[in-house]
Amino acid sequence: MSNLTITKALIMPMTEVGKSFNGYVSVSSGAINAIGAGAAPCTAPDEQVIDANGCVLMPGLINAHSHLYQVLLRAVWEDLELMPWLRRIYGCARVLTPEHFYAGSLLGCVEAIRSGVTTICEHNFLNPTPECAFETVRAMQDAGLRAVFARTIMDTGEIVPDCTKEKSEQAFRHIDAILARHKNAGQLTFMTGPNTPPINTTPELLWEIRRFANDKSIGISAHVAESKSVVESVRQQHGKNGIVEFLHEFGIPAKNSIFAHSVHVSKDEIQILKETGTSVSHNPVSNMMLGDGVAPVVEMLRQGVNVSLGTDGAASNHSQDLFDTMKAASLLQKVHHQDAGVIKPYDVLRMATVGGAKALGLGSICGTIEVGKRADLILVNMGAPHNQPVNDIFSQIVHCAKASDVKTVIVNGEILLRDREFMRLDEKKVVAAAKLANGDLIERVNRLSF
Ligand SMILES: [Zn+2]
Repeated sequence: MSNLTITKALIMPMTEVGKSFNGYVSVSSGAINAIGAGAAPCTAPDEQVIDANGCVLMPGLINAHSHLYQVLLRAVWEDLELMPWLRRIYGCARVLTPEHFYAGSLLGCVEAIRSGVTTICEHNFLNPTPECAFETVRAMQDAGLRAVFARTIMDTGEIVPDCTKEKSEQAFRHIDAILARHKNAGQLTFMTGPNTPPINTTPELLWEIRRFANDKSIGISAHVAESKSVVESVRQQHGKNGIVEFLHEFGIPAKNSIFAHSVHVSKDEIQILKETGTSVSHNPVSNMMLGDGVAPVVEMLRQGVNVSLGTDGAASNHSQDLFDTMKAASLLQKVHHQDAGVIKPYDVLRMATVGGAKALGLGSICGTIEVGKRADLILVNMGAPHNQPVNDIFSQIVHCAKASDVKTVIVNGEILLRDREFMRLDEKKVVAAAKLANGDLIERVNRLSF
């Protein structure tokens, strides 16, 4: 028996190229238990029914790379390249409190849910106290999202403040504590990683991280080859041609690793990504905002590398809107290659759904609409003038639809947003708390010198 049926929807299951049909999806105990064309069969009297007429029903979007608390730092440092920008972002560790992390992360989740995100990977890298990580995790859980918490480590680097530089044993103790607190948290999984190698991780730490990740059977998340300056560091410090080549020595590229950015990677390095089964999180808006360059997404897709999409933190985006990111991903490749057909809308949608699920080790859990998968679903209202008339639904979801068209968001069978209203969060309170946290943080930041 089902407890929720969504009927009269245009279903985009993301299971094969170009497939869409009018039909229904039923959900029982948080999982998809029936999918069919046409009208839903008779429903039980106690079953919730959502009439999705005029809406697309698709898998929830997967944001494979973010730093949620950074919504507090939207548009604070602009017009800076990666290194001077990072110096400020890292410097914030000196004044960030667990309260900032909670309030900022919860606002980030609210924004993500409003843009149709059902799974988010939080790449966590500033931990002046263990509570900062705890509070970020708590915010993601309170929001009801499916979440991956990638607790990364930094042990060196001139721009990394002492309060957030850690010895590996100390960091692993803290990660163990997080894992112990959330042993049976079904919607929450974990990763670790070096934050931005090699500029803030020693080679010793890379070996330790690989060992620890294997021990705990968790994946690795890292910022990789984001800017030319980082690649220059690996050349000067380690005599390597690129970051992926360097990390390969330590066994960091692997099936359960996700490399954010991967902008400056060579053909040989793309081959390493392919051979090791490493996934990439492409963050086009952030890359454009920081002037990093254009990731070779088309080349990676052609080679068979799994690519997902991320917003990155709002300090370099400046939003958590994955619809914006999809459109940017499409247009950036077209202009870069000066070829309008170089990337298809379905490829972009795939990165934002199936590709993201695979990258985060959730391929059997979410990312498509299939019987047996968890019910992580969104309804996108196509009724607005900017979505009409509908001629190519895949192109129009990528190029026309906006976050504000997301009507309903369901995670693990729970309706988090219904008809644009939050069901478990008080949005006004979340925004008010984030504004207070922002005031406090900016006051503290203004007393810092970078
Ligand atoms: Zn990032």
